[in-house]
Amino acid sequence: MIDANEKCIVIIGSGFAAYQLVKSIRRTSADQAIIIITAGSGDDYVKPELSHVFSKKLTAQDMVKQSGSDFAAEYNITLMNHTRVDEINRLEKTVSCQGIDIAYENLVLATGAQSFVPFVEGDAAKDIITLNSLDEYQLSQDKLAQAKSVLVVGAGLVGTEIAMDLAIADYKVILSDRADALLPSLLPEFVSSQLYQTMRRQGVELQLGNELSSMTKTDTGVAVSFKNGHTANVDSVLCAAGLKPNTALASQAGLAVNRGIVVDKQLKTNDPSIFALGDCAEIDGKHLAFLQPIILSANALAKTLNGTATEVMFPAMLVKVKTPLYPMQLSGSTTAADTNWQIDMTASGMTAKAYDSAEQLIGFVVTQDHMKNAFPLLRALPANT
Ligand SMILES: Cc1cc2nc3c(=O)[nH]c(=O)nc-3n(C[C@H](O)[C@H](O)[C@H](O)COP(=O)(O)OP(=O)(O)OC[C@H]3O[C@@H](n4cnc5c(N)ncnc54)[C@H](O)[C@@H]3O)c2cc1C
Repeated sequence: MIDANEKCIVIIGSGFAAYQLVKSIRRTSADQAIIIITAGSGDDYVKPELSHVFSKKLTAQDMVKQSGSDFAAEYNITLMNHTRVDEINRLEKTVSCQGIDIAYENLVLATGAQSFVPFVEGDAAKDIITLNSLDEYQLSQDKLAQAKSVLVVGAGLVGTEIAMDLAIADYKVILSDRADALLPSLLPEFVSSQLYQTMRRQGVELQLGNELSSMTKTDTGVAVSFKNGHTANVDSVLCAAGLKPNTALASQAGLAVNRGIVVDKQLKTNDPSIFALGDCAEIDGKHLAFLQPIILSANALAKTLNGTATEVMFPAMLVKVKTPLYPMQLSGSTTAADTNWQIDMTASGMTAKAYDSAEQLIGFVVTQDHMKNAFPLLRALPANT
């Protein structure tokens, strides 16, 4: 048993959520004991950069901003890397990893999420690549560097960004999704159709309203077939079809779990000594897997852990779509059926404002040169739209 013999905060994970929390705690407390336990290397990197590693020719090593040991030294924490937590013992207030028990006063779950990979028939299905962490990129970077053609499964934010990046880097790209449109949960049809045309002009083959059904190894790569009978040969298949929050530790410990680990606005689970934030958490009913809510959550949780119970508040937040040939920013409600759209379209982009039946601005999408309108519109949106 490792007993820090003081009021120790144990954080599981070393992604953006965990490290943002450490930085927030250190703003007001230089000597609070903090132990980070992580299955990964603990190296600090910017995950959104994974969307453009191909065009920028970045290796996994290039992406490391700071080694785990340097981060631990700079922020005065104990880092246990390459160490997976197997179990939480809430009665003893310990976590156990590979036979060692570590005591906590407060425990923070920042365990992130993993890529959801739909079931696909065939002997090549086990070779599907996912790009949701530096470690995953490290594992597949050589294979992807040698590939000339890639099927990207999933036309949400991450899949579409990666598909465009591969196309810019001169890969032959197929992008598939069972939905009929690109970014269907974020974009109205009149915007996604513009992005569709841009992807087509860049040479991307779009298989929308279609699903991958089998993947078979060939001498040179993979033969893929889709449910509508379409077939293709590619070198690699990369899946970005959504996220599954890592909730197993929480469930085993009897904590409430829904889509993510259920926490209130103080990021507190149903155990008052255990908190969760980041991609693993479902905060007040919302699963918000992007950076701005994590920064706001980390700031609030640091105050709570320092003794001042604080709720996180989410203002209207900006989503940036990193598709450089058709860049976009959006916020609020942009896909509701009964929206009245006011659209200003010019040769250099579009400002589309969404209004509800009471003529209240509820969301917007701005593209290309119109992105300068994003911040004034963001300020005009009510919170939590
Ligand atoms: C390609 C891509 C592009 C993106 N672009 C953007 C963007 O432009 N803007 C934006 O806001 N967001 C973007 N995101 C989302 C954003 O990067 C994530 O929301 C954020 O990085 C999640 O951080 P996290 O710390 O919650 O999770 P993670 O980074 O997944 O960290 C989880 C950590 O938990 C550890 N762990 C898990 N289980 C255990 C265990 N049992 N024991 C020990 N350790 C464990 C893991 O090793 C890891 O260190 C993007 C994501 C991707 C994949």
